[in-house]
Amino acid sequence: MPSLDSLFRPRSIAVVGASRRPDTIGHQIVDNLLRHGYTGVVYPVNPSARAVHSIPAFPTVSAIPGDVDLAVIVVPKDLVPAVVEDCGAKGVDALVVISAGFKEVGAEGAQRETRLAEQTRGFGMRVVGPNCMGILSTDPEVSMNATFAPSMPPAGPLSFMSQSGAMGVTILDYAAEYGIGIHHFVSVGNKVDVSGNDLVEYWRDDPGTKVILMYLENFGNPRRFTKLARTVSRAKPIVVVKSGRTKAGARAAASHTGSLAGVDVAIDALLAQCGVLRADSVQELFDIAMALEEQPIPAGNRVAIVTNAGGPGIMIADACESEGLEVVELSTDTQARLREVFPAEASVRNPVDMIASATSESYRIALEHILADPHVDAAIAAFVPPLGVRQVDVASSIVEVYRSRQPSDKPILAVLMGRNGLPEGRAELHEAGVPAYTFPESAARALAAMVRYRRWLERPDPAPVRFEVDERAARRIIEAACADGRHSLKEHEALGLLVAYGVPVVRHALVTTHADARDAAESFGYPVVLKAVAPGIVHKSDVGAVKVDIRTPAELDTAFGAMVRRLGEAEIDLEGILVEKFVSGGRETIVGMSTDPAFGPILMFGLGGIYVEALQDVAFRLAPVSEVDAQEMISSIRGARLLEEFRGEADADRGALTEAIQRISQLVVDHPEIAELDVNPLLASADGVLAVDCRVSLQPAGPGG
Ligand code: ADP
Ligand code: MG
Repeated sequence: MPSLDSLFRPRSIAVVGASRRPDTIGHQIVDNLLRHGYTGVVYPVNPSARAVHSIPAFPTVSAIPGDVDLAVIVVPKDLVPAVVEDCGAKGVDALVVISAGFKEVGAEGAQRETRLAEQTRGFGMRVVGPNCMGILSTDPEVSMNATFAPSMPPAGPLSFMSQSGAMGVTILDYAAEYGIGIHHFVSVGNKVDVSGNDLVEYWRDDPGTKVILMYLENFGNPRRFTKLARTVSRAKPIVVVKSGRTKAGARAAASHTGSLAGVDVAIDALLAQCGVLRADSVQELFDIAMALEEQPIPAGNRVAIVTNAGGPGIMIADACESEGLEVVELSTDTQARLREVFPAEASVRNPVDMIASATSESYRIALEHILADPHVDAAIAAFVPPLGVRQVDVASSIVEVYRSRQPSDKPILAVLMGRNGLPEGRAELHEAGVPAYTFPESAARALAAMVRYRRWLERPDPAPVRFEVDERAARRIIEAACADGRHSLKEHEALGLLVAYGVPVVRHALVTTHADARDAAESFGYPVVLKAVAPGIVHKSDVGAVKVDIRTPAELDTAFGAMVRRLGEAEIDLEGILVEKFVSGGRETIVGMSTDPAFGPILMFGLGGIYVEALQDVAFRLAPVSEVDAQEMISSIRGARLLEEFRGEADADRGALTEAIQRISQLVVDHPEIAELDVNPLLASADGVLAVDCRVSLQPAGPGG
């Protein structure tokens, strides 16, 4: 595939459908190209106009005398094929198809889109769109605004891809209004060719792009995205706005209890696993982007706050703490130095409140002291305009401190509280690369995202380990079930998969007679557990199909007889009875997997048994997981402390839990026929882990097949 350079660095652009009527998109695009100083040649194409915007127009693309690198197509949908043909004949390298009426309008449109794909692929063209709002580059060598958006953002290091055209206009407006520096902007539309993933890949190697921003409505190829993001985010931060949740997140949980359907952590966790910073709104995305534009990534989460009023100081401190930042105690040295310069009514403890008499000079002094404090990783300077102090002067002082400290690893963020966010002060700060916010929460969220990014950069990212396993034994079990046309494994088969993959499983035997049950119990040693195995049973304990802690042969006989009778009365066909060693003690945990149609296998870890339902306390990761992923799954649940020494039980063996999760990850990746899997419980104690129950459902042809 030719590089995307033909899109971003064209030396000439034909606007096909250029119009003389000012209220049309075809006019607006020519206007934007001219008004914002496109450095190449613009050719309006219009069969019935001699000129558009005072420049000569051509009836067709092939009638243009010079070379055409890029064509922006704005004609009605039915004319698109002929225009593409014309562009192909002319040797145009790339197209931006603004025209709508494709996949987004249903079956007929989808056909039209397939045709467009075939046609353009035939010519080897790169295509943005259809149904998009255009592309833009502020690179001074190109200076191309090939969109119909009314505003042009300033140049800067942020590259933005938007899946929604309507959001694209809003995004450019916002960037222009707040002085947020954009490098490239692409509205991808229906993505007939150029996808978000292609752009991430291009921007990875593009020296003009420092931060990648994405507004996503859905993931075209989430598996490729997560793989790509995992490496790209090591070099450049990726910030994504994505609403919604995965189906698998809800389903993984629902398959045990039905009550976990509200789990909204899945996408968050998956994106975090790839180092992607997720924002909840476009506003938050810009808050984060502004901070990443120029400021250094802080070394840690300890923040100091300087203000000229008590209230804002407290609001910012609260916002910081709720974002997981530490409003740190300043060193005694720093406090003593601040004490020397500020009046007695001022507070020299963090948040430092210089009170309303603070001047711009006060800001300079305070910021210099707190940034020199080794306890501090970042500073937030907040200003409420009192009488007599000008916002621009305070802004200049902040800028002065920021500049004098370069290079530094301590970011400075500003909060200007007042009418419209004090635009003059804000402009001054932005100009110098200091982000300025109107609300405390915005600054806190932006700083917290920077800290998350720092953690990601420092986080080891080992490749998933591959354990020595008996892959063939597992395959035989799955193939046998598939050959029977079954969509689930029997309990002992499911346990067999775990055994084949080296996950410790409780001693167990499937029996059909009383005598065999007794023999098994003798050989395991009492106490034991009996479980009925029958095709229709999903939750065994719900139907009296589990009897635990059987201590004697006599108890075994009674329990065996009772179980057979009860299931007989319920007209359940028994396949056999599973005898298991009874495991005493240990914390019940759950390791689950559900296949998401887009993301593939997603693993879940949580506290098992009653805790799953009551606490909804689970962690998700994409499979395959690395050792670090597995460790994080365990430590990220709220109830992680229950795995530590608790009520006389020693710490659960985290190493064994981590390994079990990795082995289960390998199992589900190796065998895509496994649609869902639940080890519940995986009992975790100081001596290791033991699976005592496993449920597996199959999707014989594998996902998508
Ligand atoms: P189901 O989940 O189908 O109801 P399980 O096999 O998970 O059935 O058994 C239900 C509960 O019984 C488990 O959550 C666990 O508390 C307990 N249990 C099951 N097997 C054992 C065992 N071998 N040792 C100790 N407790 C067990
Ligand atoms: Mg169970």
